[in-house]
Amino acid sequence: MTTKPTLLIVEDEPSILRGLTDLFVFHGFNVESETDGQQGLDRALAAQFSCVILDVMLPSIDGFQICNAIRQHSQTQPILMLTAKNTEQDIINGLTLGADDYLAKPFSTSELVLRVSALIRRSGLALTETKLTINSHVNVCTQKLTGMSYAQNVKYTRREVAILSYLHLKTAPVSREELLKEVWDYKSTEHLDTRTVDIHIAKLRKKIESDPKSPQHLVTFRGEGYQLLTG
Ligand code: CA
Repeated sequence: MTTKPTLLIVEDEPSILRGLTDLFVFHGFNVESETDGQQGLDRALAAQFSCVILDVMLPSIDGFQICNAIRQHSQTQPILMLTAKNTEQDIINGLTLGADDYLAKPFSTSELVLRVSALIRRSGLALTETKLTINSHVNVCTQKLTGMSYAQNVKYTRREVAILSYLHLKTAPVSREELLKEVWDYKSTEHLDTRTVDIHIAKLRKKIESDPKSPQHLVTFRGEGYQLLTG
């Protein structure tokens, strides 16, 4: 029985795919790959991978559609998207559709290995079964990744629940940098883009706030960060 983590890489550029495959095999991963979007999606839905790495521009269907379709089936599958540099809309799309993380091309290969390893490590941490009560209408089951919000059933990603769980432990605002370190496992937060945090917070507000534009629970403290106010 193998204990190696298995990645699925969906990337249509042969030289990049070859480079990524060599890189991850060198670091002790099993690597499966597809160069076509639809085939990548079929493969992703056929099994749970340690992590799925998605390019955005692909033949047949793009990385966003794959990400979205995976999330309809699995809230727990770790997904990292490779976006084009400085295409803010790509980054927002990817994270909004449920990617856990992204890296912009051209990326540093060591950074990519760190990010993927952190994602896998995090996903292996079983969240202890806790019911987070935000208020009398909103609660989250941390293991099932589901909850009720104003009489609606809501699904959460593992990352979203990890953010809520972390904030729930804190009694003061938490900075974006601290969240990237503690919830994303980033080693260094230098040069890091904190939009990842903001986009996840925006998604969470849509799920737990009665009026996401005027949050009462997931509150921004200017210059300090975010705090979760319950009750
Ligand atoms: Ca491509």
